[in-house]
Amino acid sequence: MVYFDHNATSPMHPAARQAWLEAVEKFIGNPSSPHRVGSRADAALAEARQKLASFLGCDALDLVWTSGATESNNMALHHFARAIDAKSEIWISAVEHPCVLEATKHYFPRRHRLIPVLRSGVVDLDWLRNELAKRPPGAVVVMAANNETGVLQPWREVLALCREREVPFFCDATQWIGKLPAVGLGECDFVSGSAHKFGGPKGVGFLKCPAKGRVEPLLRGGLQEEGRRAGTENVAGVLAMIAALEVREEALKKSRMEDGRWTMEQARAAFEKRLLAALPGSEIVGVNAARLWNTVSALMPEADCQQRWVVKLDKLGFAVSTGSACASGKEEPSHVIAAMGYSSAEAGRVLRFSSGWETAEDEWTALLEALVKVHRGIQSTIH
Ligand code: PMP
Repeated sequence: MVYFDHNATSPMHPAARQAWLEAVEKFIGNPSSPHRVGSRADAALAEARQKLASFLGCDALDLVWTSGATESNNMALHHFARAIDAKSEIWISAVEHPCVLEATKHYFPRRHRLIPVLRSGVVDLDWLRNELAKRPPGAVVVMAANNETGVLQPWREVLALCREREVPFFCDATQWIGKLPAVGLGECDFVSGSAHKFGGPKGVGFLKCPAKGRVEPLLRGGLQEEGRRAGTENVAGVLAMIAALEVREEALKKSRMEDGRWTMEQARAAFEKRLLAALPGSEIVGVNAARLWNTVSALMPEADCQQRWVVKLDKLGFAVSTGSACASGKEEPSHVIAAMGYSSAEAGRVLRFSSGWETAEDEWTALLEALVKVHRGIQSTIH
């Protein structure tokens, strides 16, 4: 199977697997237990926390281990629901992941606004600047990189605008971390990440939140994580996550070209160029924005519904997606593509191809050939 669905999840990196196996043998204790076996596990977690803190640029105590980004994001929204005064709103970008969108609707049913995005998929900074000047909200939420389109958000600029108005800023960096350097993200008040997006195990992630001041726990019980998240920590999962992140951050250091672009971008650029030429009527979503180097969101020619494309490509040995993994399977058009100004019919034509660190150039070529083949098949059934 040729795998082009890394934004949904990425296979475990061997270094992460190794770290996990070592950890389950070595750190058998509960990190909260007062004996030495427990303390050893606790020390391993502390070292991992320190490493993640140095990648993000924050204090180690600002980090809470979670079961993944869905939990981290729910925890952040749960916190805001308690911490923000009852009259204030929360503003989230219109292209947030469903776990942010749904948690916002749950906790702030009548007190949230969507920050619009431009046709490029980038949040409208002018809108944000103007609105912040009128009446600042209780918090602003903008992701770092979009899971469906790969479009990068100007989170540094959003952070600066929020700082001016003293508004807390939460950035879901799940798709950014492990694909682009994490440095600087720790400046944001809240940041979420998830191991399985960059070669760590599924079911482990983190939330960066302020160590000073109270953070309302979502999970109540024991006093783990400074009382911010009850439950025995997933020690092996955390150590494997950090091992994967170290590999990715090291690779990033070696992958930057002189012009600032990434070496991995070249195969994607060649693919996009050939796709547009081979399939007239196709279009790259977010083409005018800075995007993750691994993601292609493409509007396929007006020929058939996206689900059929996915099934046909699957039969040919290619795993691709219709958009977000959580959204696929249901028929509603993607809220992300819709927010960019595309019609429902257009949104229904979008396919997402997301490569991984280990994807070879000839896999992109093979994908293109498969797309041409599927397209030809669809055309022949139409005409
Ligand atoms: N946020 C974003 C931007 C994501 O892409 C995802 C995963 N699709 C999540 C949050 C949820 O992550 P997890 O699978 O770790 O719960």
